[in-house]
Amino acid sequence: MSLVSEESCVFCKKPLHEAVLETTLERTASPRTFKLLRCDGCGLVATTPRLPKSELEAYYQAEYWGRASADDLAWVRRDQRPRTAFLERFRREGRLLDVGCGLGLFLLALDPRRWDRYGLEAMPAAYQEAITRLGADHIVKGELTAAEFPAGHFDVITFWDVLEHLPDPVAALRQAFCLLRAGGLLLLRLPNFAGYTARRFGEDWYELALPYHLYHFTPATLTRLLEASGFKVRVVEASLGTQHYHALKHSLLRRLTRLHGPSSGRLRYYLLKPLLHPWEWVSTHWGGGSSMQVCAERPVTPPS
Ligand SMILES: [Zn+2]
Repeated sequence: MSLVSEESCVFCKKPLHEAVLETTLERTASPRTFKLLRCDGCGLVATTPRLPKSELEAYYQAEYWGRASADDLAWVRRDQRPRTAFLERFRREGRLLDVGCGLGLFLLALDPRRWDRYGLEAMPAAYQEAITRLGADHIVKGELTAAEFPAGHFDVITFWDVLEHLPDPVAALRQAFCLLRAGGLLLLRLPNFAGYTARRFGEDWYELALPYHLYHFTPATLTRLLEASGFKVRVVEASLGTQHYHALKHSLLRRLTRLHGPSSGRLRYYLLKPLLHPWEWVSTHWGGGSSMQVCAERPVTPPS
């Protein structure tokens, strides 16, 4: 089977040399070994080899999309609270595009009297679910780089757990810049490869999520990409919500069952479980969270 080779950096074009991690996925009939390589120039970390699009789509269709019941709007609003709370720290109304909107739950959680809600989704099953909730005229099927919105059309563009899945995150950020009006905001949530859980658990880190995550960002590498795309970075911080706890819990469980087998590993996990909440609190505050949230602005006056 052919694999797409990824030997130079998508951002700065320098070689990807330094291997930071190697792991084998045993989930399918033919196990695959992946290496994470760091760029010599900008420090961005990429998953290699890159699986061809057809093979990645098969993984997504088999595993990634569940169906969620969105009938209970109160539940949707609670579930999406970390995202909506982050958004409303900066903006309370406007025209918003959610890139990779999935089932449309984030858009559904926004008050339609204050937000003109648009979504973009490439996966057919998720797209179908999203249009039943938000209407075919507000959900566009496909990739951001191919979408035909007018320049400067949006007040806010969001990427919730999306940037790390894109084959060309640099092109996506540049396109987002074009689609935002001057003073418009880009909000992102994504795993933090420099955070405590990523560093402590390595190949067992829950948010490594191979083969889906094609790039692994740190606050430093993401800031570099955003600034090179024209953005002014306003906030980079540990994300809100329960992701850090879940990431720590699942990473620990994976590590212990891999080292000690399923039964003994689970027993050790349950013995350590009472420590998880304080462990998560301390590691997120002092070691960096498992995921980060970012707010960047398209400046009103472009930097000279
Ligand atoms: Zn680079």
